[in-house]
Amino acid sequence: MAFELPKLPYAFEALEPHIDARTMEIHHGKHHQAYVTNLNNAIANTDAEKLSIEDICKNISKYPMPVRNNGGGHYNHSLFWTIMKQGGGGAPSGALADAINAAFGTFDEFKTKFNAAGATRFGSGWAWLLVGADGKLAVSSTPNQDNPLMDIAEVKGTPIMGCDVWEHAYYLHYQNRRPDYMTAWWNVVNWDEVARRFAAAGK
Ligand code: MN
Repeated sequence: MAFELPKLPYAFEALEPHIDARTMEIHHGKHHQAYVTNLNNAIANTDAEKLSIEDICKNISKYPMPVRNNGGGHYNHSLFWTIMKQGGGGAPSGALADAINAAFGTFDEFKTKFNAAGATRFGSGWAWLLVGADGKLAVSSTPNQDNPLMDIAEVKGTPIMGCDVWEHAYYLHYQNRRPDYMTAWWNVVNWDEVARRFAAAGK
C-alpha cells in the first residue's frame, strides 16, 4: 500500500491572516506531496511498504537517507495540518494544561521555550512538544524532517504538537522573520487535537 497525501482538513485560506492561502496551497499540494511521492519511490519493493509511517520512523536508523527525509516529511506534515485550525489559539485546558504547568511552570514559560526551540534551530527543522518515555512533556527541536519518534532523535518521545520552521512554511508572507511567524502561529493551534494526541500518547 503506497502512502497517500492526506486531505487538508480545512480550506487553504482557513488560517489567514496568520498563514496565507498561497503558502498553504504550495506547502500541502507541492511540498507534502513531494515527500509522499519520494517516500513511495524510496520504499518501493522493500519490506517497509507493509509498515505504518510511525513504525518506519521508530526504526529510521535502518533505512537510507531518502526514507528518513521523506518519511519524516510525510509524518511531520500529516501531524502539522491536524494541530492547526481556523479560529484556533487560546490556551489548553484540562489534563494537557496541568501537564504543561507541571513540566514548564506556566503556559507562558512553555511558549517561551517552544518559541526558542524554533527560533534557534539553524537552517530547516521543527519545534516539538512531546511526551517522553517517563510520561512527562518536553520541548525539543529537530533538524530537517527528523522527529522525536525517530530512534536517532536527541530527545525521543511521542510528538503531540509540532511547528514547521522551514522557510517554505512562512517565507511568502514573513520572509526572513521566523519569530513573527511563530508568534502568529499560536493563533491557529488546535488545542483539542493536541489534547487528543496527549491522551492517546499516555495509553
Ligand atoms: Mn513543511
